[in-house]
Amino acid sequence: GGKRPDRRALESELEAEGVSVHFNPHASLSLAQQRRRLPIFDDRRALLFAIEKFATTVVVGHTGCGKTTQLPQYLHEAGWTDHAHLVACTQPRRLAATSVAARVALEMGCELGAEVGYAVRFDEVWDAARTRIKYMTDGMLTRELLSDPLLTRYSVVIVDEAHERSVHTDVLLGLLKRVQLRRPELRLVIASATVDAEAFRDFFERSAAAEEPSATIISLHGSGNHPVKWHFTQTAVPDYVRYAVETVLELHARRGGGDVLVFLTGQQEVEAAVAMLHDAHTPGKLLPLPLFSGLSTDAQLAVFESAPRGVRKVVVATNIAETSLTIEGIVYVVDCGFTKQRFFNPRSGVEALVVTPEPQASARQRAGRAGRTRPGEYYLLMPESSFHSLAADAVPEMQRCSLAAVLLQLKALGIDDVLRFEFMSPPPPENLACALEQLYALGAIDREGKLTPRLGERMCQLPLEPPLARALLAAEEHSCVAEMLGIAAMLSGQSAFRQMKPADLAVARAPFAVYEGDAITTLNVLRKYVRKSAAVSAQRCTGWCRKHLLNQKVLQRAVRVRAQLAAHLRRLGVKETRAEDAPSLGGTTGTDAIRRALAAGFFAQAATASAGAGRYRRVHGGGELRLHLNSVLYKAPPDCLIYHETVVSEHELILAATKIDIEWLAEVAPHFYEMRHAAT
Ligand code: ADP
Ligand code: MG
Repeated sequence: GGKRPDRRALESELEAEGVSVHFNPHASLSLAQQRRRLPIFDDRRALLFAIEKFATTVVVGHTGCGKTTQLPQYLHEAGWTDHAHLVACTQPRRLAATSVAARVALEMGCELGAEVGYAVRFDEVWDAARTRIKYMTDGMLTRELLSDPLLTRYSVVIVDEAHERSVHTDVLLGLLKRVQLRRPELRLVIASATVDAEAFRDFFERSAAAEEPSATIISLHGSGNHPVKWHFTQTAVPDYVRYAVETVLELHARRGGGDVLVFLTGQQEVEAAVAMLHDAHTPGKLLPLPLFSGLSTDAQLAVFESAPRGVRKVVVATNIAETSLTIEGIVYVVDCGFTKQRFFNPRSGVEALVVTPEPQASARQRAGRAGRTRPGEYYLLMPESSFHSLAADAVPEMQRCSLAAVLLQLKALGIDDVLRFEFMSPPPPENLACALEQLYALGAIDREGKLTPRLGERMCQLPLEPPLARALLAAEEHSCVAEMLGIAAMLSGQSAFRQMKPADLAVARAPFAVYEGDAITTLNVLRKYVRKSAAVSAQRCTGWCRKHLLNQKVLQRAVRVRAQLAAHLRRLGVKETRAEDAPSLGGTTGTDAIRRALAAGFFAQAATASAGAGRYRRVHGGGELRLHLNSVLYKAPPDCLIYHETVVSEHELILAATKIDIEWLAEVAPHFYEMRHAAT
């Protein structure tokens, strides 16, 4: 069975065998000594000088040299912070923000949330009176601009992992440039793990009216990495998860000590590989550990601890470990050669997560993770010729994602002429046009492109993607706000069921499943959990979750998220109304209100059944979709549905969807469907 690796069990097992267990690799080095040994330490004075003198400093240094953990501390120590001024350090990923904040709190000898804190969506641990260094996602800082347009709370903003060019990073860079024009004393630091620093410098330099240059580049010293030997496969690899596992087992059997880092594309793959490694019979001991965003705090920490002597740690990660997080002691890297990326199709108006071959730049970064402490080895699971035909660099996310959320945010900040906004990499005009069309159809903007007061202005206040924000506000008209709050909380988190095979999932989900679809099924899960946790002891509630194969952490988080969203709605003056009839098995009208409200947000993602079981055609823009085995609708496919989530493999598969009536589409989005309407 797929038992989770249990550190403590392994520890006691080893101790019983008389193996000494020592978890701290640097037990002999104090944290202060460790800090001084980092490559960035030699450049400390040069960095502080540049940040003093230049409005913008671009800092380039290889992964692990200390940019993320040290820069904010140097600034804090040099007096850039006080009770009214913080240093912000932004990250594209939640997990990076939270785990780095924990590391820095440890280095500074303070409690997390005191001098050092973090802020990510739905989870903030910092203190208005005490916090001086705040790690946050770039999206959170962008959101802060709504209430503090000049970011007066901050003396320095460090935009970290800028090379990754996430869409939120790019939006933030454009906005910071505008802030700097009006607040020249604000210091910007752009930190990047790759050498293409000029683009960042030039972007910020052009804004300077003065004759003196206002932006500079600092390349950090330090020896860089140790050499890494590359290995390719002879032929293309059909099943890279299994092949990656086999590669790990083989090198574990034949090669000397040193930990292993495996790159896969997503949580499901990571969990599958960890389970396979866990079940494998190996001569020496292996400690497989997962690493992906959304992992519990304990599981994150386990990844950074060094393995007990005589045990080889195998960290199986998504590309979070590419540059965001440094794990010491890695000597072998096994790379599936793929990454999951967002792609937007302006013709259908749909964005999908697609597993695509990684660019060469990513392969080099991943290879570099093997040479941190000594010469390492890199196993890329593709033939050498395939590597040479990969794209050199990734296309910035801004140019391949849906822009509806971005444009809504810019409009909320008073930037009406979004076509003239200075993006570092301007997105394709058809993507911008499509986003404007969607926002118009959602009722968020009017014909002039201005935010509408009733919907647009309120949607911006909600920390949700535009369709979900719209559905939540539509719930007010349909008197089902309480229900939609639960759905929004569940849809913006991970799946509540523990990862498992479709057949097992169907059994586990049966007590909650309704034929109206996945959103309402997930609402049933949350409601039953809330009822259970109020009625029985904590211990019995945990037992109940285990019995139903539910992930209690995910449910607890959903409860917190729901409370936060409810608070947002109270501030907007929305009452928490309830649909009259609770959703129930077999009831036909009980969930109409909820489904209509959902349709008001997700109408652009509507599909109707076409020939063949479980096959669908998009109502807007065409294109074929199929129901995923894991959707509750798979057993009884409705004539018409709206989908909330898809994955792309050989086909585009609908993971979560809700049954609707096709007539509702014209009601909730007359402009969007008017062409079709006229034709029928
Ligand atoms: P960069 O941002 O330049 O990639 P970091 O500041 O993230 O580098 O990391 C600097 C060093 O701090 C790493 O080499 C690693 O040794 C150490 N480090 C970072 N996070 C942790 C952690 N959670 N546990 C132990 N060591 C860590
Ligand atoms: Mg970093």
